[in-house]
Amino acid sequence: MNNPGLPKEGYQGPFRPFVWLGDEWRGLAWFSESDENFSNEKADRVIEIERQGDVGDTVVLRINLITQPRTIEKPLKYTFGFQATPVKPPKPDVWDYRICHMGSYSIDNSRLDRLAAAGIRTMCFHEQWTDIQAYTRTTHGPQLRKLVKACHERNIQLLLYHGYEMSTIAPEWEEYHKKCLVQPRRGGYKRKYQPKPDQTAYIVCYRSVWQDFVADGINRLMDEYGIDGVYLDGTSEPWGCANVDHGCGYKKPDGSIGKTYSIFATREMMRRIYTIVRAHNPKGQVNVHQSTCMTIPTLAFATSYWDGEQLQNLKRRPFAQEVLPLDTFRTEFMGHNWGVPAELLWYGSGPFKRFEAESVALLHDVLVRPGDMASVDVLAKLWKTMDTFGREEATWLPYWENKDYVQTNEPSVKASIYNRPGKGFIAVICNTGPKDSPAEATFNLKTLRQPAKLKARNVLTEKEIPMTAGRISVPLWSLKSVTVWARPE
Ligand SMILES: [Zn+2]
Repeated sequence: MNNPGLPKEGYQGPFRPFVWLGDEWRGLAWFSESDENFSNEKADRVIEIERQGDVGDTVVLRINLITQPRTIEKPLKYTFGFQATPVKPPKPDVWDYRICHMGSYSIDNSRLDRLAAAGIRTMCFHEQWTDIQAYTRTTHGPQLRKLVKACHERNIQLLLYHGYEMSTIAPEWEEYHKKCLVQPRRGGYKRKYQPKPDQTAYIVCYRSVWQDFVADGINRLMDEYGIDGVYLDGTSEPWGCANVDHGCGYKKPDGSIGKTYSIFATREMMRRIYTIVRAHNPKGQVNVHQSTCMTIPTLAFATSYWDGEQLQNLKRRPFAQEVLPLDTFRTEFMGHNWGVPAELLWYGSGPFKRFEAESVALLHDVLVRPGDMASVDVLAKLWKTMDTFGREEATWLPYWENKDYVQTNEPSVKASIYNRPGKGFIAVICNTGPKDSPAEATFNLKTLRQPAKLKARNVLTEKEIPMTAGRISVPLWSLKSVTVWARPE
C-alpha cells in the first residue's frame, strides 16, 4: 500500500518521483522526473519525512540530493516541482456526473431509458468501442453515431475508452513502436475476445510522438462523432522509462541507463486532452482510471478519477477493512484533498463485498461506480434522496472532525453528516470495526441547528427508524452502513 497516515517516527525511503504530504483537506506535492545526479550513501534514505516540535505537528520533507562526497566535473542539473492541492474547486463532483460503466453497441433504447430514469448522466464505453486496443479510430462508425444520438436524447454523456497502450495490430505499430513504447517494454495486455486477430498491447510513453497521435485522434473523434469526453485508462500515469530514442533515460556513473518518469510530458498529454474535450464541449469530461498513482501534476486535468483496481488482487483478510484502512482511504481515495472528485472501483472478484465497498466509500462522500442495473438501482435511491434533500445546500461534516455534532456508542462506529440547518440532515453511519455492533448514534440537534423533533428513515429500505432526542440505534454487522434521512416532522 502506498499511502497510509504518516507514522510518529516519520518515513525514510528510496528515491520516488512523487511525494505528497497532506491531510483530509489539503496538501503539498514534490516531484522530480528522475534521480539523475543524486548521489547518496544510503539508497534507502533519499527521501526523509520527519516529525518535529513538541507534539510532532511540524513535518519536514527532506530530499537528499548528495550525501556522499563526489567529484564534480560538470554542472549538475536538477529539475523538480511543487504543487499545492486541492488544485481546483470541488464542483461539479461525481454526485453530479453520475457515471456508469455500461457502454455497449448492443445496449437498447429501453435499457437506456431505464438508466436515464435512474438518474445516470454519464456512460463510459470500455475498450470494446474500437477493435484495436487503445486506438482513436473505429470501424463501427455508424453504430457509434447511433449510440451518441441515443445517449444525447436522454441527456447522458458518452465517454470513450482511451488508454496507455499501443496494440500490435495498430497500423502504426511497425513504424512507431520502437520509438514510442516505454523501455524496458511493459504491459503486454492480450485481447482475444473479439472475432478479430489476437493482439497484444504495450505501454507507451507520452514523451514520444504518440502524444501527438493521441491528441490528434481524440480531436478528430470529437469532431466526427460528438462524444462528450474520454475515459482514460492509466493515461495520467508517468511510467518509468529508459527509452533514449525519445529523450527518456539518463546515463548513470556506472554506464547503465536510469529511468525517467515522464511527469512533464504526461502532464502535457493530459492538458491537451482536457483542452480538446473542453473546446468541443464546455461540460465535457476527462475521467481518469489509475491505480494508486496520484501524481497530481498530471491528474489535475481530470474531471474525476476512479481508483481501486490495485486492491482487487489482494486476498480478503479475516477483517476485510485491513485491505483498505481508513487513513489510506482518506489519503488517496477521497478526492477532497486533491481537488479531483473520486469514485471507488469495485469488482466482484475483489476482497470486498459490494456493500462493504459502498459503506466505506459513502462514509467519505465517495461513490462506487455501477457496472450493472442492480447497482444503478441502489444509487438511484441515493441520488433521488439527495436531490430532494438538497445536498448542494448542505454542509458535509465528516466523521474525523464532527464530535460536536454526533456521538456513537463505540469508536469503530462512525458517522458522516450532510447537514442543512432547520431542514434536516442525511447521515451515513458505518460500522468500520471487525465485529457486529448495536450501532448507536446520538446527534446533537442543537449544534446541528435542527428542530427537536425529527423523523428518520433508512434511505435504501425506506423504513422509518425511531429517533428520540436525536438518538437512533441500528444494529450493524462489520462494514455495514445505514444512510439515514432525518427530516423535520
Ligand atoms: Zn519515455
